[in-house]
Amino acid sequence: MNRNRPFYLFVLGMVAVFGLFGQERDTPNIIFIMSDDHASHAISAYKGLYKDVAPTPNIDRLADEGMLFNNAFCTNSICGPSRAAILTGKYSHQNGFYKNEGGDPFDSTQETFPKLLQRDGYTTAVIGKWHLWSEPTGFDYYKYHTLNGEQGSYWDPVYNDNGAHIQEEGYATNLTGDFALEWLEEKRDKSKPFMLMFQFKAPHRPWYPDSKYEKLFDGVEIPYPETFNDDYATRELTAGKTMMTIEKHLTNKDLKIRRPKGMSDTEFKKWQRLGDKGEHVSPSDTLTGMALKKWKYQRYIKDYLACIRSVDDNVGRLLDYLDKSGLSKNTIVVYTADQGFYLGDHGWYDKRFMYEESLRMPFIIRYSGKVKAGRKNDNTILNIDFAPTLLDMAGLRPPKEIQGKSFAPLLFNTDKTGFRKAMYYHYYEYPKWHSVQPHYGIRTERYKLIHFYYDIDVWELFDLEKDPNELTNVYDDLEYEEVVKKLKRKLSRLQREYKANIPLERMRAVTDKGRIEY
Ligand code: CA
Repeated sequence: MNRNRPFYLFVLGMVAVFGLFGQERDTPNIIFIMSDDHASHAISAYKGLYKDVAPTPNIDRLADEGMLFNNAFCTNSICGPSRAAILTGKYSHQNGFYKNEGGDPFDSTQETFPKLLQRDGYTTAVIGKWHLWSEPTGFDYYKYHTLNGEQGSYWDPVYNDNGAHIQEEGYATNLTGDFALEWLEEKRDKSKPFMLMFQFKAPHRPWYPDSKYEKLFDGVEIPYPETFNDDYATRELTAGKTMMTIEKHLTNKDLKIRRPKGMSDTEFKKWQRLGDKGEHVSPSDTLTGMALKKWKYQRYIKDYLACIRSVDDNVGRLLDYLDKSGLSKNTIVVYTADQGFYLGDHGWYDKRFMYEESLRMPFIIRYSGKVKAGRKNDNTILNIDFAPTLLDMAGLRPPKEIQGKSFAPLLFNTDKTGFRKAMYYHYYEYPKWHSVQPHYGIRTERYKLIHFYYDIDVWELFDLEKDPNELTNVYDDLEYEEVVKKLKRKLSRLQREYKANIPLERMRAVTDKGRIEY
């Protein structure tokens, strides 16, 4: 028996080591679901305008079983830059991806949270929208949308499947759902914990719903947002100068207006784009004025919400799969979007501005048995916080270079104050698309101060408590003189903290690089 003693000691030792290790270190699976342009006010768990007419029961289920953040904000409200900020945990001026148009591809040699997880023994995948121009790194498997500037296509989309370009047959949202389930069930290395980025193309413009949902809202009049007829008084040079209005800037293609008879294919392509620069577009000669604006809104919002129905269905498919396969318990599930969106708010579609509707992102997280169900949190969190938070939850220490900070403590305790008092924002792309002037700014719980600096010099201040819809710029109001001074000091402090205190000329150069004129 003595001969076996060392072996028993060895086994005991291993049990002790792994037992301790197991106690110290959780390696939860992570599914990061991100849709494109899905505003939080179009998710019924957020109780927005559409909660009754267009509910999202499966995303709501995540909120019921997890935690919902009311004040998750984007640091640069546009597709690619938000994705780069999420992957790196850094602002655009640190990760180098500032714009969708005319900038450099994402520098894929830099550190990202998928790479850190992969190096730590996770198997990783990204399926769906990528939109960063360089090949994904840090993933064992990828399958992402190509064509249309990496936006992909709603129907019969082409995917880059680990390097092979494959055209698939069907509707993009459902296909992306199929491929995610296929990876989870068949393709992943089941001996490892996993991290999946499950990223829908929908509900991005041009808002093509699945054929089964094309008539989903027929006969229904979708309600109008409070600021639908914003006249941009006190914000004439900024909000008043965009090319993203429901009234004037939706195209024949956006509005699905029927192709006129006798038009050649070349003429048709040109005709489809009409509206982008404010050309008159109408389904009939008699529909004009406010009636036309309302018709355009109904056409737009119905398609947008119908696209979301398919996203919600596919979130449901995933949650069902996790339940059936026994993965629900040890899998963190996040639902978010790359930014917010204007759903007729201020008379607009699209995003970009630091104003609330596009600044705010949905953020819902479920970690069954660990994060108490059904809670809501009002702390200010940012897209650059997602990477350090997920690393933290996987037991990894976020690298120092990351500018965001982990909000994991907010998930596990009830302390709701003091996480972040003010956030910094910076948008660069101009004039294409939509003519939104580059700007940076600060948002505190009470105020928002913005500087539009490219070829105008305009400051705006909003008192979010008195004016939550941001209709009145009070920057020049003497009553707010002290507030402005304080906010400017805070803004400078944040710029220094984030190494963003660079001269305006350099900021303008970022916009000018590869600039595409209308
Ligand atoms: Ca987007």
